Amino acid sequence: MKSAIKSDTDNIKPADARATLHDSFDRDHLWHPYTSTHSPLPTYKVKSASGAVITLADGRELIDGMSSWWCVIHGYSHPVLIEAARKQIETMSHVMFGGLTHDPAIELGKLLLEILPPDMEHIFYADSGSVATEVAMKMAVQAHDNPQKTNFATIRSGYHGDTWNAMSVCDPVTGMHGAFGPALPIRFFAPAPQCKFGDEWDSADFEPMRRIIRENAATLAAVILEPVVQGAGGMRFYHPEYLRELRKECDENNVLLIFDEIATGFGRTGKLFAWEHAGVQPDIMLIGKAITGGFMTFAAVVANRRTADMISDSQSGVMMHGPTFMGNPLACAVALASTRLLLSQPWQKRIAEIEAIMKERLEPARSHPAVKDVRVLGGIGVIELKEDVNLAEFQKRCVEEGVWIRPFGRNAYIMPPYMAITDAQLHKLCDALLKLVCP
Ligand code: PMP
Repeated sequence: MKSAIKSDTDNIKPADARATLHDSFDRDHLWHPYTSTHSPLPTYKVKSASGAVITLADGRELIDGMSSWWCVIHGYSHPVLIEAARKQIETMSHVMFGGLTHDPAIELGKLLLEILPPDMEHIFYADSGSVATEVAMKMAVQAHDNPQKTNFATIRSGYHGDTWNAMSVCDPVTGMHGAFGPALPIRFFAPAPQCKFGDEWDSADFEPMRRIIRENAATLAAVILEPVVQGAGGMRFYHPEYLRELRKECDENNVLLIFDEIATGFGRTGKLFAWEHAGVQPDIMLIGKAITGGFMTFAAVVANRRTADMISDSQSGVMMHGPTFMGNPLACAVALASTRLLLSQPWQKRIAEIEAIMKERLEPARSHPAVKDVRVLGGIGVIELKEDVNLAEFQKRCVEEGVWIRPFGRNAYIMPPYMAITDAQLHKLCDALLKLVCP
């Protein structure tokens, strides 16, 4: 049977190359994120990617405005990351982390502790962002060691991944609650913070969360949220004072605080990590995505000593998680090289320049009748529209314009590979975005 399945890429001749952009095997047999098998969205076949450019199978080049969902910060095929991977593969691509350890894990850990919030002391390497969320939530439950204190509070418009518990703390409307309904554990949701980043702080903004924490302290293990920037749940930037209030309230009510910095980490918001905007440290922090410069999947959950002690002093006495590929040496080696590479460059200056260009270029969209809001922070530029974007049509037109942008819902946004994109490429991205959303 298998041999009857033929891909459009079999026997490609250059003249047919354009037809192979939409591969029939891919359409008929491969699930892509959030798609139907009956009417999948078109996919564009990529031949290669280098720097800030994705090259399609037909040779067309697209300037990347997505960093492959926030992670490819140095651009594609970066020689330093390739070399780090090559060297590690020649030594040892993988070895179990149960009972064994290795330099890539140790060296990466040392570097992470230098750049993470100062109270962070203990690192759990995880396979992906969603798994990191699961691990963080398990840590919080284990730390309290109290069958009553097992629930979570969060804010609406958040996103924490697609696994079960991660879904349960994603925004109930823009997340996947509708599809899973009563199968998901029921969490406490405060409204998304309304006070925007850069606006004057309005203390009323925190009151709903304060109430939730006070009224439910007996059952809450932790509050989990993305600090300052809410990514895939709404692309919103909120006031850092919210986090200062939250830290105090969590402390007073014996509730742990988890910051999900999977999307915001490694410079994306203009600070190395978004907690720095507020100056408050969480008890548990998640990092992922850009940790390997987008080279491969990897994540880490870091905890302060108090949380680690609570877990170690609990009845089970151990952190109950240990995936097969935990601490994978190849991922650790690439993460180490990527983080060193970032820190060796003037990343903050470059992100500030990118922020300034996006602010200047996207701001005029604000007066367009189709536009609800324009916001830029660090390496993130968002044009929020009044209506949802037609994704298939939008992406077709992006490809025609020579750029790669993938909106969701009403948000058309760019988050370019900030350490790779040139000013000219960024201007072209902005031109295309404006042309597509503000015709
Ligand atoms: N948390 C946040 C804030 C994210 O943006 C994402 C991914 N978009 C995740 C968790 C899940 O990460 P992953 O897709 O690697 O599972």
